[in-house]
Amino acid sequence: MKILNGLDAIADYLGISVPENLRAVEKAYPVRANTYYLSQIDRNDPWNDPIWKQCMPHPDELLDYDASFDPLSEQEQTVAPRLIRRFYDRAVLLSTNRCPMLCRFCFRKRQWRSGEPEQDIADNELAAVCDYFRAHPEVKEILISGGEPLMLSNARIKKILEALTSVPSLEIVRLGSRAPVTWPERIDAELVGILSSCRGLWFATHFNHPRELSDAAIAACTSLVSAGIPVVNQTVLLRGVNDQPEVLEELFRRLIRIRVKPHYLFHVDPVKGVRHFATGIARGREILRYCRPRLSSLAMPTFAIDLPEGGGKVSIQENYFDGEKFETIFNTRVKYPEALE
Ligand code: SF4
Repeated sequence: MKILNGLDAIADYLGISVPENLRAVEKAYPVRANTYYLSQIDRNDPWNDPIWKQCMPHPDELLDYDASFDPLSEQEQTVAPRLIRRFYDRAVLLSTNRCPMLCRFCFRKRQWRSGEPEQDIADNELAAVCDYFRAHPEVKEILISGGEPLMLSNARIKKILEALTSVPSLEIVRLGSRAPVTWPERIDAELVGILSSCRGLWFATHFNHPRELSDAAIAACTSLVSAGIPVVNQTVLLRGVNDQPEVLEELFRRLIRIRVKPHYLFHVDPVKGVRHFATGIARGREILRYCRPRLSSLAMPTFAIDLPEGGGKVSIQENYFDGEKFETIFNTRVKYPEALE
């Protein structure tokens, strides 16, 4: 896998010419993709390809509007170096701001937009994070996020996991990584060994479209699951990419077939430069109404939105049936012994 920086390098690799209207977008937000992910694009029709749309810029990124680069107020909720805490028992560690590709819908665009230096977590920052957890034993779960945490070497990942699990009150380590999707060869045997020997580790990945489930991506997930590592998936609802109910039904079905649990379906966050991907919450609810009667609960993710200004995650439930009607049927047909009534 080779990382290609800039539209010209990517266009050369794909054998296409760069549309002039994308040059201005690249000045505002850098463009990066890797040869593996680009190889999944349908070259007969790249402009409409769901993989293209996730990694290649769009002129609408420049339609400025009243949005922030940090709509979830992560910077305000930073409690130790690189550590964000919004919830009572969980925290998020930004282990690096490096990524092997730059997803156009990324809600941490602030970390990589033009001019931001690339930085990994330093030893003194890791020590400060562990001190924070020792002082706050009510925090039971850490999400290691980024950037792409697997841009760090296996040795560095091991060191971070060992440091975090040396804090007895930290029970769960969730590693959030898009590598199975965008860089499946990164899930090598050594890494799987490191992750499978970490106590309480869950792997959270990020497939958005069934086309991303290539043989290599499936093999990466299978090697994690076969090593006993629970794998969950979060999907972002993206206009023009995956906002067709049939597309998401297929994605969720194919994920559980390889024992990856669809965990969340998120509405896209209101980050500057991402608005063109927004579907509106009503569209997400329609998709839920379509999928719920067709899919088992194993395959159904929770649809959620992140409230602005760090208000937290809210799940949106959608009943696909008439609750009162079924309550009446239940109450008429099911007879409990009197003592239980
Ligand atoms: S890999 Fe994750 S952090 Fe990196 S650009 Fe994509 S969504 Fe953003």
